[in-house]
Amino acid sequence: MSRYLMDKYQPLVAYTPGEQPRDMQYVKLNTNENPYPPVPGVTEAVMAEAGRLELYSDPVCIDLRDALAARYGVARQNVFVSNGSDDILNFAFMAFGSPRAYFPDISYGFYPVYAGLHGIDAHPVPLRSDFSIDPTDFMALDGFIAIANPNAPTGMALEVSQIEDILQANPDHVVLIDEAYVDFGAESCVPLTAKYDNLLVVQTFSKSRSMAGARLGFAIANEGLIADLEKIKFSTNPYSINRMTLAAGLATLKADDACMANCQRIIDTRQATVARLRQMRFEVLPSKANFVFACHPHADGGFLYRQLKARGVLVRHFDSPRIKDFLRITIGTPEQMQTLFEALGSILEG
Ligand code: PMP
Repeated sequence: MSRYLMDKYQPLVAYTPGEQPRDMQYVKLNTNENPYPPVPGVTEAVMAEAGRLELYSDPVCIDLRDALAARYGVARQNVFVSNGSDDILNFAFMAFGSPRAYFPDISYGFYPVYAGLHGIDAHPVPLRSDFSIDPTDFMALDGFIAIANPNAPTGMALEVSQIEDILQANPDHVVLIDEAYVDFGAESCVPLTAKYDNLLVVQTFSKSRSMAGARLGFAIANEGLIADLEKIKFSTNPYSINRMTLAAGLATLKADDACMANCQRIIDTRQATVARLRQMRFEVLPSKANFVFACHPHADGGFLYRQLKARGVLVRHFDSPRIKDFLRITIGTPEQMQTLFEALGSILEG
């Protein structure tokens, strides 16, 4: 840190992304990427745009927003797009988070970081002992609410009716539902955006649409909230999505059935993974995401993480009190999961 950093940023603890090591080829099950490549047509669309990089991208992203509006049965004014859903979460905390924000204590690690960045008082709300969210803890609060549904890293989801109760109980505050993993089996709140002007649904192309490296996220909400997000985006970086990513997003939506078919393959692999891990005596939380959260009664989480890494399999381990025994394991291809099972088998035998 230099002496020039503004005082207000000095205590900031930045987010730590999952590791992307370069020392060897790993089976990468640590950052919830999609194991399948972008769907047909995406690479060609990106290559075509690569020859036009002398021109700025469309700051209002009309074509992509129209395609998303058609896909989700809303209007263009209900759709916001930006550089990854992280960008949108940041804007949402900046726009709607003051003076205080509530979110589950075990959830996406970026929420407290955004709160810190924008001087917002963070109120983590403890999960129940079974790691579920208790919706009654989110009733009639005096601030912004952010809930990942399904939650990360647990993978557990609330019902839409439970989220509707939260929306009704907090009419004067924005409720952000982070649906980064919704396409892997949870129910989306997008239909509720027609009814509640305080609901902001955020999704991403990173997981279900195999575009993590392109950085593309979107939000669906009442047009007032979308206009607010546009104002923040146009006050920071109007060209936050580059031409190639815009083209990739459009091409991906044209082949959306292929994306959803990949999600179904991942759901099937998840079911097989849960069964196999339980056979190995792991406790596995019920997941509606493209990862599972699991712990073993006789093996320390940090130990398993290190042993797996030594065998070329990367998973995510969080060294924080309530979840230090758990591993978050991304669902890869059936072949990748087989490598994981073999590695776990040999570690647990030892
Ligand atoms: N929300 C949740 C719950 C996540 O786990 C992630 C992925 N790290 C994101 C949002 C951000 O995804 P992206 O910026 O790639 O859209």
